[in-house]
Amino acid sequence: MKLGGGRSTNLEDRRGRGMGPLGIGGGLVMLILSLIFGPDIISNGDDGTTTDSYGEVGSGLSPADSAREEPKVVFVSQVLDDVQSTWESAFRSAGSDYRAAKLVLFRDGTNSGCGAAQSAMGPFYCPLDQKVYLDLGFFDELERRFEAPGDFAQAYVIAHELGHHVQHLTGRDERVRDLQRQNPGAANEMSVRLELQADCYAGVWAHSAAERNKLDPGDIDEGLGAASAVGDDRIQRRTTGSVNVDAFTHGSAAQRAQWFKRGYDSGSTNACDTFSG
Ligand SMILES: [Zn+2]
Repeated sequence: MKLGGGRSTNLEDRRGRGMGPLGIGGGLVMLILSLIFGPDIISNGDDGTTTDSYGEVGSGLSPADSAREEPKVVFVSQVLDDVQSTWESAFRSAGSDYRAAKLVLFRDGTNSGCGAAQSAMGPFYCPLDQKVYLDLGFFDELERRFEAPGDFAQAYVIAHELGHHVQHLTGRDERVRDLQRQNPGAANEMSVRLELQADCYAGVWAHSAAERNKLDPGDIDEGLGAASAVGDDRIQRRTTGSVNVDAFTHGSAAQRAQWFKRGYDSGSTNACDTFSG
């Protein structure tokens, strides 16, 4: 990737803060949220709609100081801003307003509008506060455990999470949640469709970045590799030793790579209708 710019104004850096006020206050907030939204908001990942599951990943963090991590922080910022300015233009062309998401960098754990965020959950988007939550340690996991190295693999993860923000702005996530409430038996399948659409949206952004000559040779392969690496079948095989298709919430490695590629090839969200057929 060849992106410019420094720290993003949409970056919220909480790395120095530890868990923060997650004691009584946090529990209380979660209780209130569960009363308002029902338990599905709290049970991170159970319904697969509001959070992303990458299997159990260790925090794997050294107490590295901020200076050492600054290049990563700048890279995350550059991707965040590039993806969001791409969506801003797309929304403007379609006659609607794009509202920027925030990205929260944290270490080990923090509070999110969707409950406690922990590194082990992997990166996720919370629609209730419209923020992406990311522990930089996940990128090490991505390279070592998921065997998906490269800056574009990391960019894919950020673009995927921002794809969920786009789904939130278009009301797609809410419609899917309604369908899941009406038909709990189809909840996992609906979740997969939502996730594959976010992968496709990441591909749409990659298309734009390529058009603007922001990509290096091999970047798209890194993106395809990362999309495959976080496929349900890969994660299940790694964590449980077997594959249970009925339990898929994000799609198989092949599906995830395929939808990322569809978005990349077409450069249009029209190619990302994972809900028909
Ligand atoms: Zn996702």
